[in-house]
Amino acid sequence: MPPHPDIRFCRRCGTATQQQVPPLEDRVRAMCPSCGYIDYVNPINVVGTVPVWGPAGEGPAGADVRWAGEHVLLCRRAIEPRQGLWTLPAGFLEYGEAIAEGAVRETHEEAGARIELGPLYTVLDVAHVGQVHLFFLARLVDLQLRPGPETTENRLFALEDIPWGELAFRTVARTLHHYVDDCAAGAFPVHTAAVTPADGRG
Ligand SMILES: [Zn+2]
Repeated sequence: MPPHPDIRFCRRCGTATQQQVPPLEDRVRAMCPSCGYIDYVNPINVVGTVPVWGPAGEGPAGADVRWAGEHVLLCRRAIEPRQGLWTLPAGFLEYGEAIAEGAVRETHEEAGARIELGPLYTVLDVAHVGQVHLFFLARLVDLQLRPGPETTENRLFALEDIPWGELAFRTVARTLHHYVDDCAAGAFPVHTAAVTPADGRG
């Protein structure tokens, strides 16, 4: 199991916590000796899209090419981590938000982009940092883009020109690799995988 974040103070009352196994549980957690609060740390969801533009193309006979595109929208990151590298629009799901809502919101925040949201596409465990990354297929409604504060530049890349060596995160690279392959195959099934430190950056 990955190292647990070191939570030293109760988020409810501010008392120094104790690392204990709560009753009826099986692992150590940060517990408050004053108010009894148990600080559960669970994986964070990162939600985003693969926003594409351009004609869907022909594809193999009978293929589902509705979500195929000639270009994909990437965002150059204005902030750390991975400042200056390219990413798909994505970010942390907010409390009380559905994953599809979060994906649309992040796409708008980072690129000013309006999209038609497609189906869920990749579900990627990044257990070593306590995250799950979820990307949806999407089609840009128009090209009125406006980089948000976390983005220095939005650019449409032809699939053959994706900057593989300058992508910010492994989950983005994984998702784009699937996308390029699936455009050629003409089908876009959901892909699930675990991304580990052995897969390189991000
Ligand atoms: Zn407390």
